[in-house]
Amino acid sequence: LNYPTAQFMTSAPTLAKCPEDTGAEVAFAGRSNAGKSSAINALTQQKALARTSRTPGRTQLINFFSVMNNEACRLVDLPGYGYAQVPEAVKLEWQKHLSDYLHSRLSLRGLVLLMDARHPLTEFDQMMLGFADQRDMPVHILLTKADKLKKGPASAALQKVRSRLQEWEDLVSVQLFSSLKRDGVDSLAQRLDQWLHT
Ligand code: GDP
Repeated sequence: LNYPTAQFMTSAPTLAKCPEDTGAEVAFAGRSNAGKSSAINALTQQKALARTSRTPGRTQLINFFSVMNNEACRLVDLPGYGYAQVPEAVKLEWQKHLSDYLHSRLSLRGLVLLMDARHPLTEFDQMMLGFADQRDMPVHILLTKADKLKKGPASAALQKVRSRLQEWEDLVSVQLFSSLKRDGVDSLAQRLDQWLHT
């Protein structure tokens, strides 16, 4: 699919406000600062489709983008998570919105989970993997900011994450990714194509 055609559709604060649950979509999730906005912008070759470094604490929205002018084919930017400054009650509320969305959204074909290659599999990441596992949702993991690691440590990080997720290898795939160098954009696009075409 031609991801650079992606266009902003709408924002939703809760599952109830999401666009009609038909067609197909893939969602992007990650701890705040994992590099999610940069990855969406690299994929779509747009400078500011997903806004980077959002102000923590502000109302966070689920953002929907249509691909190739087709609202039945969507990329979804889930709210970042884990800002230290946010009160616990707000974090719990966001956790609920994420779990509602991931558990009930029928058009959701797969989850792209972004993790800083230097600090993968945080508590948040494990929670998201748990949500996906509960409904056999495939997950594609991007180990981001791979340019910050030398080749050896980068492939070691990749192997480590793969081996820790070995029991889920049917549902989970993992790759290195760098928005800065545009490394891994094609592999990501191929995975999205598989999900959005079916
Ligand atoms: P988000 O909070 O997950 O949307 O993360 P952002 O995309 O806003 O990125 C967080 C920070 O990491 C920003 O300062 C980015 O410039 C930086 N960053 C994102 N991707 C990369 C990358 O591939 N390489 C490097 N070196 N820095 C990156």
